[in-house]
Amino acid sequence: MSSSAVVSVSRRGADRLRAGHPWVYRSDVTSGDAEPGDLVEVRSERGRPLAWALWSSTSQIAIRSLGHDLEPDGDDRWIGARVAAAAACRDAMAIDASAWRLVHAEADRLPGLVVDRYGDGRDTYLVVQTLCQGMDRRLETITRALEGRFAPRGILARNDPKARRLEGLDETVELLSGEVPEVVEVREGSMTIGTSLWEGQKTGLFLDQRENHVAAAGYARGRALDAFTYHGGFALALAGRASSVLALDSSSAAAAATRANVERNRLANVEVREANVFDELREREVARERFDTIVLDPPAFAKNRASLDRAVAGYKEINLRALKLLAPGGHLVTCSCSYHVDEASLLGIVAEAARDAGATVALVEKRMQSRDHPVMLGVPETYYLKCLVLRRVI
Ligand code: SAH
Repeated sequence: MSSSAVVSVSRRGADRLRAGHPWVYRSDVTSGDAEPGDLVEVRSERGRPLAWALWSSTSQIAIRSLGHDLEPDGDDRWIGARVAAAAACRDAMAIDASAWRLVHAEADRLPGLVVDRYGDGRDTYLVVQTLCQGMDRRLETITRALEGRFAPRGILARNDPKARRLEGLDETVELLSGEVPEVVEVREGSMTIGTSLWEGQKTGLFLDQRENHVAAAGYARGRALDAFTYHGGFALALAGRASSVLALDSSSAAAAATRANVERNRLANVEVREANVFDELREREVARERFDTIVLDPPAFAKNRASLDRAVAGYKEINLRALKLLAPGGHLVTCSCSYHVDEASLLGIVAEAARDAGATVALVEKRMQSRDHPVMLGVPETYYLKCLVLRRVI
């Protein structure tokens, strides 16, 4: 067994760990220090062992717990074991797609590590993000563990999220193993979706919306609108049952990718427009247009607490305009991926929008991020994606 540094935490830090929260802030570290990314032993001020953890020398989150049931060894074998456990639980979910999140960081007891898998069989690609010093230092071990278990054709590190700055880590995109083509095709339900793992948002697709795409299709009929379409995730799913779908995105790259996906699936009823949703909704409202199915899936308007007021105003505006455009009997699928706007707040915003639109609205379904991105009980920040299905009654 290798020797590990010992750090002590305050009563508050110890209580958080005991309550199942995996993070301890630097202000709750009372003694001890370690090298960036070291495996450390966390103790209470009285010296009672609490957990093993990864140490960060720069982030306010100094300690990311690995739990107490870890046997440290020089080779970090716990990484391979925990990746295997994460994979087994995805296998048991019978996911109707060929792309999903294999490792969802803290929720899979691999703090700061994200692994998304794309493709089938011999054409399987893995995208890795190491978002804390401890995981970044172990990237080589992680890569070997993934190669050994999944034999993917390629492994890419999409280490370009800004969050890495808090850990003193640079922003890079790097091929770790094998090859990764410019465009990778995956299946989602009955649809084929192409994306770039090198350049797409997140690791290529919004895998957290996968199950909501399918759920939204269940409400689709008549004239449908997918605002904020990205690569067409909702639009393609709606196209099977709606008579026509209008897909909007302000990014020309996203609109082009959506058009390519429409072609891939030979869909004749999807129109893709490069446009600002705020302007487009306003203009169509003035023109008194009507839609029977509308999906709103904007980017996180509230990136932090300081931008909360503006974000709430943004959510209110798009929901108000969407409800005005929605024909009675039609459905609105409205999402928010800002964890600063929680479910109750989103419900409040939508209720206000309905009142201002003069619409009577029923809540039909409350959904969240896909099952491969589980929420940790006791860690409210991990419930970030809300998806409400509403019916305009009159
Ligand atoms: N619904 C998609 C994910 C959407 S991500 C899915 O399920 O896969 C948010 C998208 O909104 C991005 O593609 C971004 O380019 C786009 N976007 C951001 N602001 C916008 C605006 N004001 N008008 C139109 N699109 C916008």
